[in-house]
Amino acid sequence: MKLVTLLATVDEAKCNGCRICPKVCPTLAITMVARKAVVDEDRCVACGNCGQRCPELAITFTKLASPKKLEVTIDDLPRQTLDDLCIKAGFHPSQIVCYCTATRAEEVAAAILKGAETPEEISLRTGLRSGCTVECIQPALRLLEAAGLHPVPPKNGWQWYGRTPTLSEIPPEVRAKYSNHGFCFEEDEKLFATVVASDRR
Ligand code: SF4
Ligand code: SF4
Repeated sequence: MKLVTLLATVDEAKCNGCRICPKVCPTLAITMVARKAVVDEDRCVACGNCGQRCPELAITFTKLASPKKLEVTIDDLPRQTLDDLCIKAGFHPSQIVCYCTATRAEEVAAAILKGAETPEEISLRTGLRSGCTVECIQPALRLLEAAGLHPVPPKNGWQWYGRTPTLSEIPPEVRAKYSNHGFCFEEDEKLFATVVASDRR
């Protein structure tokens, strides 16, 4: 969950039309109109990326008159369905998958079960990927994949940082190579299964 209190605001006089800001916006909130950046208030999650990257310092943040809450409810969904999707993606349902906003795997699963089909839609429904916007693309993609969805990166050049393998996907040869270097692949897998099973009782 995230409480959005600010809105990115572009100073048209300073904007030189370089198109950097649309490429770093995790919710595709910025479009270019007549070579000027325009922010869609409904999609801005106040991550700060655009303001940090703008070479002209044309973007500042103004206080919203009414803060908006990015939050999805999970109690109206079947517990079993939520758990199954999280576990299929390799997450404990209560596991935090976005540390900036403390968003849990089950919240992302709920957003997907309620219709989110892309990481951008998940961000708008849960607040995930509205902080650093880097690490949490991976759990979003893993949960979407577990739900049978395979979104493609936006065409405007925003980098998704890809999807890392889960523990259960690490190939046998990699396990064999690193198992004597302080990694405990099988033990970790057993521990994950034990914790999930005990929490589902
Ligand atoms: S990064 Fe700054 S200068 Fe470039 S398009 Fe966006 S607002 Fe304009
Ligand atoms: S603050 Fe973040 S979400 Fe809002 S327009 Fe800028 S990059 Fe997009």
